[in-house]
This record gives sequence, structure tokens and C-alpha cells, in this order.
Amino acid sequence: MAVAPTPRTHLAAALAERLTGAVISPDHAEYDAARRVWNGMIDKRPAVVARCADAADVATAMRFAAERGLPLAVRGGGHNVAGTAVVDEGLVIDLSTMRGVSLDAATRTVHVQGGATWGDVDRVTAPYGLAAPGGVVSDTGVAGLALSGGVSHQRRRDGMTVDNLVSAEVVLADGRRVRASAGEHADLHWALRGGGGNFGVVTSFELRVHELGPEVFALNVAYPIEDAVRVLAGWRDAVAGAPDELSTAGLVWSLPVVDELPESLRGAPYVGVAGMWAGDPVDGERATRALRELSTPLLDLSGPVSYLDFQASLDPYFPAGARRYWKALYLDGFSDAAITTTADWSDRRPSAQTLVIVRHCGGAMGRVGAGETAFGDRSSEWMLSVDSTWDDPAGDASNIDYTRAFLGAATPHSNGQTYFNFPGLLEEGDAAVRASYGANHARLARIKAAYDPENRFRLNQNIRPAA
Ligand SMILES: Cc1cc2nc3c(=O)[nH]c(=O)nc-3n(C[C@H](O)[C@H](O)[C@H](O)COP(=O)(O)OP(=O)(O)OC[C@H]3O[C@@H](n4cnc5c(N)ncnc54)[C@H](O)[C@@H]3O)c2cc1C
Repeated sequence: MAVAPTPRTHLAAALAERLTGAVISPDHAEYDAARRVWNGMIDKRPAVVARCADAADVATAMRFAAERGLPLAVRGGGHNVAGTAVVDEGLVIDLSTMRGVSLDAATRTVHVQGGATWGDVDRVTAPYGLAAPGGVVSDTGVAGLALSGGVSHQRRRDGMTVDNLVSAEVVLADGRRVRASAGEHADLHWALRGGGGNFGVVTSFELRVHELGPEVFALNVAYPIEDAVRVLAGWRDAVAGAPDELSTAGLVWSLPVVDELPESLRGAPYVGVAGMWAGDPVDGERATRALRELSTPLLDLSGPVSYLDFQASLDPYFPAGARRYWKALYLDGFSDAAITTTADWSDRRPSAQTLVIVRHCGGAMGRVGAGETAFGDRSSEWMLSVDSTWDDPAGDASNIDYTRAFLGAATPHSNGQTYFNFPGLLEEGDAAVRASYGANHARLARIKAAYDPENRFRLNQNIRPAA
């Protein structure tokens, strides 16, 4: 006897008639995998996942969601810790099978489909000694990262990812497909360089690539945690005025519990300096020498390494599935008081997996004017990020509270600007959006009104359309 289909299977069947790619509904064998994102704390149940095969599918899925009044989420690499790539009871435009990458070495650009990861890009560009400034973990999505900033190991030499976005193919809220570049839809091109997923679905990015590798010099030193203040201050002083080739961070973390380490070091908290020299490794060795002598190292893993290997070297330390609440704040300066605050709060981490990291910015990324891209103000040279990570759901409240209290203590050292690629759960909403985009907010709201007047793309650092 035939069983009457549920409304949800109706929905999936109706979409499947129009889509080339797979349609995944709650009764599908792949549903749980399709709704899972990198942050294990996110547990959302979409009504349907549209695994789009191409830009035409994206437009179809978007029109379908609009016709049925379904909330819309867009999934690139699924890494955003706020879990905005999925939505309860809505439709997910899932680009995870659109991962093509094609390099044009002659024009020094790479075309990247909207669901690709940085590993996909690096594997194509690295054999030519070229790299697009992207992320430092290989399975992070290009799309989310590229639309909200993009701080890489080459950031101080080549700028942020947004500074290297030459053009983008975009499916707009009404299903139209446009190209945004300096010469076409220039306002949209400006907005995409920092405004996040507010303006449409990017099905292809054209990014500038730069000479890099095949070998680079990697800096990675762990010092005793007792020396935290001294090491962080020494790092700050040593990198002030450093050449643009040097992008580094000061951090507090715990060493992994692995057989390769002596027992006394397994799991030990440490203060470290890490980063990369984007140039000749011989010069890199020289330029980082002082950073390797800030105190007596517990471990020094610095040395020349293939860029491709380096780009995957952090992957094992950022596995999918753990619970995460990551939040960032730009600091006015890394003053002695800010260092003391950072060291004190790092000492209170409720979870050994939590990474506290201060990235040195500036260089090429700091020389871009606040109005030149939607990203906004670049005057801060220091970005504090508290990457809280734990396994037990019972630890949710304490880890989230800790992160908020840490950021609260650091706020007096900051202009209040956040980095939307490390957005917590985006719980501050409009207040954080206005504070972080500053003078660019009004222009962003006008562009939003032109391209997405109904605010269909709202699962992000949402910019409300201007009235
Ligand atoms: C392990 C790890 C390492 C990281 N390292 C870095 C780093 O080195 N540098 C850095 O700057 N950031 C880094 N990040 C932060 C990262 O930039 C963000 O998590 C980013 O959102 C990831 O992009 P995604 O495509 O994977 O995310 P998703 O969760 O898929 O998407 C996030 C949001 O982006 C928008 N979006 C996604 N795809 C599209 C599209 N095709 N078109 C339009 N909008 C889209 C949507 O609004 C979506 O909600 C890291 C994050 C993690 C988890």
C-alpha cells in the first residue's frame, strides 16, 4: 500500500525535479553528514539541502527557497564557528561539490569555485611556486574566509584575501547571475571584499596569486608558560618594524599529548611564537633568529619547509567535531598592559585545547585605506583571538563565559572592532556589525538594499538593507 508523502518529502521531490545536483532531505542516508559543520556544537536540522552542481543550480535553489518562503543558508567549506552554513527548517545551498580550481599562471590569477577549500587551491598553485593569500588550515573554505577578510601566513607581504579578489561570479537574490569586478558592478565588488555573504552566492572567485616557495621558512617555537609576559613582550618588540615578508603570531596553547614528545612536555601549557617568512628561506632563518631566543625554548621546530606541507601542517590540531566558540578583537596596540591581560587570562583557560593567539597584522594589509574595501579600518596591527575548544557539552557555558570575560577584559585595549571570521555565535548582532564596519556601514547598507532588498542572505554578520 502506498504511503502518503510527508510535506518534507514533497519539498525534496519538487526541488529534485528542478536541480541537477543531489537533494538531501531528512530521510536521506546522507542527511546527518550533510547538516554537520566543522563546529561540533552546531546541531541544526534543515528542511532540505541542495547540493548544487553549478551556478544554474544555485539560482534554481534560491528561487525555490524564495517561492516557498524558506530561510536560506549558504555553505562553502562549512568552517564558520557560528554555524551559519546551516539553518533549521530552511534550505541550504551547499556548494561542497563545486570545488574546481584553475590557475592562469600568465595573468597570475586563479579561478576558484565557491565550495573549494584552501587545500584545493594550494595543490594547484604550489607546484608553480605561486600562492593565493588564504587560510592556514587546508580544509577551511575559500568562500567564507575570502568574503570576510582572510589572514594568511603571507598577509603582511600580499595583503588580505579580500585585497586579492579580482572578480567574482555571483548569483543574486533574484536569481540573476552577474560578474563583479573593478569595471562591472563595482559597488558589489567593493562590498564583497569584507562584507561577508550578505550580497549573493559567489560561485567563482578570481584571486591574485603571488610568488611563494616552493620552500618557505616556518617559525614555530614553544617556551615555558612561566615566561609568557617576557616572551610576548619580546615578540612584540622584535616584530615591530619587521619586513613585510615576516608574518607571525604570539600564542598560548598546550603541547599535544603525543609519543614523539618527552613525557614531561606532553600536554604542557606553553607560550609560543609562530609564523612564516614569505621569501628566501635563508633570509627567513636570519630574520627570525631573535624570535627563537626570547627565552630558553622547550621546543623549536622552526626551519625550511615546503609551502604545501606547511599549509597542511596544522590540520591535525584542528579536527572537525570538537565544540568551539572562537572570538576576536583588534587591539589598539600590544601594550605592556594588554600583554599582562593576555597572559593572565590565558593562564585561566578552562580547556587545554583552547588557543589564545595574537596575530601581527600591518604591513601590506595595513596599508589599504579603510574606505578602499568593505572590510574597513586596518589601522590595528594586532588581532587577539580566543579560540575556545572543548569536547564535553557540559563545558559549553564555562568555556563560552570564559571567552566572553577574556574579550571583555581586553576591550579597554581595543577600538571594539571584531574579525567576522572568528565571530563567536554572532550574538551581538547589529551592534557588532556597525562597530566593526564603522564608516563603511552606511554604504554597505545601501548596496545591500540594491542587491538583496528582502535580506534573503541574513545568516551572517547581517547588514540590514538601507530604508
Ligand atoms: C580550523 C580553522 C582555521 C581557520 N583559519 C583561518 C585563517 O587562517 N585565516 C582566516 O582569515 N580565517 C580562518 N578561519 C576562519 C574562517 O575564515 C571562517 O570560518 C570562514 O567563515 C570559513 O569559510 P567557509 O566557507 O569554510 O565557511 P562556511 O561556514 O561554509 O560559510 C560561512 C559563511 O560564509 C558565507 N558563504 C559561504 N560560502 C559562500 C559563497 N559561496 N557565497 C556567498 N557566501 C558564502 C555564508 O554567509 C556562510 O554562512 C579558520 C577557521 C577554522 C575553523
